[in-house]
Amino acid sequence: MSDLQELYQSIILDHNRRPKNYGALDDATVRRQDRNPACGDEILLEIKVDHDVITDVKFTSEGCAVSRASASIMTQAIKGKSRDEVEQLFRQFHELVTGKVKPTPQEARDYGEMAAFSGVSRFPIRVKCASMAWHSLQAALRESAPV
Ligand code: ZN
Repeated sequence: MSDLQELYQSIILDHNRRPKNYGALDDATVRRQDRNPACGDEILLEIKVDHDVITDVKFTSEGCAVSRASASIMTQAIKGKSRDEVEQLFRQFHELVTGKVKPTPQEARDYGEMAAFSGVSRFPIRVKCASMAWHSLQAALRESAPV
């Protein structure tokens, strides 16, 4: 295993053990419960949207390390971001986990900890695990669309 792969693995294991933004968000404006039947992962995502900005987010989950770590890293990445910025992040993440872009170690730095999931593109079932939280977020944002 390369140093970079080892680093990515340790980031994932670390977030799985000590997930960020883990727990309940009492004043959430939208909640989503979703499942990834391919692996059995489950997530409860709670977000607070103020006008166009995600001002707070928390989650709880059951399932594999990849799904929990991805949710943890996602919550860190999206807090304080606008819908458009989140959409942009989702696109970047999606290209990364599906292998559409293969960043060099240098370029990978731009992705922050999301880069840890660049290795999952080789494992289609893991792509679903890594993407679950993001799909849940997309659905949540659609539900909370201003009317
Ligand atoms: Zn999983």
